[in-house]
Amino acid sequence: MTEKTERSRRRTKPANRPAGAQKRTKAVTRQAAGERPLAEYRSKRDFTRTDEPQGGPRKAGRKLAYVIQKHAASQLHYDLRLELDGVMKSWAVPKGPSLDPSVKRLAMEVEDHPIEYNQFEGTIPKGEYGGGTVMIWDYGTYTYGGSDAEDPVEGLRRGYAKGDFKFVLDGKRLKGSWVLVRTRRGDPKRAQWLLIKHRDDAAEPESNVTEEYQSSAVTGRTMDEIAAGAKPRRSRQGVRT
Ligand code: MN
Repeated sequence: MTEKTERSRRRTKPANRPAGAQKRTKAVTRQAAGERPLAEYRSKRDFTRTDEPQGGPRKAGRKLAYVIQKHAASQLHYDLRLELDGVMKSWAVPKGPSLDPSVKRLAMEVEDHPIEYNQFEGTIPKGEYGGGTVMIWDYGTYTYGGSDAEDPVEGLRRGYAKGDFKFVLDGKRLKGSWVLVRTRRGDPKRAQWLLIKHRDDAAEPESNVTEEYQSSAVTGRTMDEIAAGAKPRRSRQGVRT
């Protein structure tokens, strides 16, 4: 331990503090751990008086972002990302989504990604983590898909915690009601979920949507064109961050 670390450790030691102060220290630690992003930032500001941004998903009326990135890493997969509490909750789906409600697609949970990541299309260098070409395969917004919550974001939080995450996509390509169901397989840090399309107007039994769309939803480029650094066929405007 360096001298500096030792000093700051001693300074934050909770000895001889009244119970209330200790509680506050715990709350700050939780914030530092990222459980409530931006809580401290917001608590210091009165947004009726300052024009600074409130940031994150709690801003009234702001829709939650959704993206699927096709990723030709060592194994081709589709990264499904759904915004919750200031981050993109992320799952690697080896076979990608299916519009057929009888099909359950394995979705391995991976680490939260920043919302800005939604705009990333390009090539991660070989040898780097996730090396390979990334295509924005679909993007848009999403909402809570259950009916048992007064606050939709609270419904999403609860659904995620329970492992029964119901959502409705309003993407450029994918629409309608879906669910991610957590299974008991896999280790907790890399939980295995199943991605399932609910039966609704957007369902298409026996379709193959990943085969159908072979180009970027944003730039129109194929995987090969992205890998070759080809110019976008369309502008990138419209991807929500
Ligand atoms: Mn990936």
